[in-house]
Amino acid sequence: MSTDGAFDRFTRTVDAAAAIAGIKDARLLERIKTPERIHEVSVPIARDDGSHAIFTAYRVQHSSARGPYKGGIRYHPNVSLDEVKALAAWMSIKTAVVDIPLGGGKGGITVDPKTLSRTELEALTRSYTERIWRVIGPQVDVPAPDVNTNSQTMDWIAHEYGRQSRTISPAVVTGKSLAHGGSAGRDTATAQGGFEVLHDALGATGESIDGATVAIQGFGNAGANAAILLHRAGARVVAASDSTAAVFAADGLPVGRLVEHKAKGGSFADLADYEKRPTEDPLFAEADILVPAALEGQITSANAERVRARWILELANGPTTPEADAILERRRVNVLPDILANAGGVVVSYYEWLQNLHTEKWLREEVEARLAVTMRRAYERVSELATFRRASFRLAAYAIAIERIVAALRAESSEGRIVLGR
Ligand code: NAD
Repeated sequence: MSTDGAFDRFTRTVDAAAAIAGIKDARLLERIKTPERIHEVSVPIARDDGSHAIFTAYRVQHSSARGPYKGGIRYHPNVSLDEVKALAAWMSIKTAVVDIPLGGGKGGITVDPKTLSRTELEALTRSYTERIWRVIGPQVDVPAPDVNTNSQTMDWIAHEYGRQSRTISPAVVTGKSLAHGGSAGRDTATAQGGFEVLHDALGATGESIDGATVAIQGFGNAGANAAILLHRAGARVVAASDSTAAVFAADGLPVGRLVEHKAKGGSFADLADYEKRPTEDPLFAEADILVPAALEGQITSANAERVRARWILELANGPTTPEADAILERRRVNVLPDILANAGGVVVSYYEWLQNLHTEKWLREEVEARLAVTMRRAYERVSELATFRRASFRLAAYAIAIERIVAALRAESSEGRIVLGR
């Protein structure tokens, strides 16, 4: 399944949503689509065996119209400039949908982190930070974890950034460990945000999470935490996969056991007692709700007809192509789009950033309560516009975001003119 053309998919969706938002000014749309800055760097490390290796890495700063750039850093062999541009752009849209005062950015290193030791991963992270520290910062660009990066990675970046800049700046990244200024509730934020959206969307049609069946592709931060929350709310997880295999159980998988197995470094391929299936099979499972929580470009025109679920909660970024979207819409599958459904992560990242800037520590209950309010408000606004304009949730969410970015761009000039470049 290809990830090519993800940025192109973003620009096409902006054009479609602009029609709903009533924005016709081509210059404005060009400004919304074009990344403000693209950094490509080489990242050298010394390997444990004494040899040297150089990796290619990126930081794309898409939009600062509404605030400092914000977005994760991914370590994956398929990371490309096109992918990072798309992920950065989606962040600009996402921060606008949930209306937090941040822009959008994203970073990535083209590397298979499974081939590196812990010492080499630390060296890679510090070397990458050394390359980009001048262009990030608490008021400039604030990275966070994404696929194959975690709180340890963020702690290394914060420490290296401090060393390079001779400052103590925990607010330079979010998703840190609690010991280094991380926020309570950040670990479960993406899944909780998705849960709130799903809860309200099902509620609006008289359905409920309790008793529903769920299939999940990807069992990392987003997917595993979603499994825990949905299971706790009475749903049955009937299929799940990680990058090695899928496991199925019509009467419900033992979520706690799967989470424990993964936490110990295990993979689904070495789970005893289960027949193993290909990693994409949960996409086609007989389930009420499908949760793509792995990578982009998974549901395409080639397989959208095979999706059985009536609801799709997109915790991954960009899992559905526009062509697949059209097929799903025709088949009346309800898609809760990534830019709304997985925004919980960036919302609590924003809370972490605020806590660091104000040297505060909020309790988990406070974080979760605030997150629930923010997500429900965003859902309500998107749902209203989708109903009013008879548009998909995705296009409605994009339209709201584009309007907000346009408002910020217009405010840059007292005469309401759009300033082309700062
Ligand atoms: P992660 O590294 O914690 O987990 C990724 C999971 O996907 C792992 O279980 C991995 O084994 C699995 N996976 C990889 N390729 C797969 C494949 N082909 N089939 C099935 N499973 C596969 O990453 P994460 O943070 O959970 O991110 C997952 C997705 O959610 C990404 O698209 C990411 O951009 C998005 N997302 C994450 C957050 C967050 O806060 N972590 C926020 C918003 C969006």
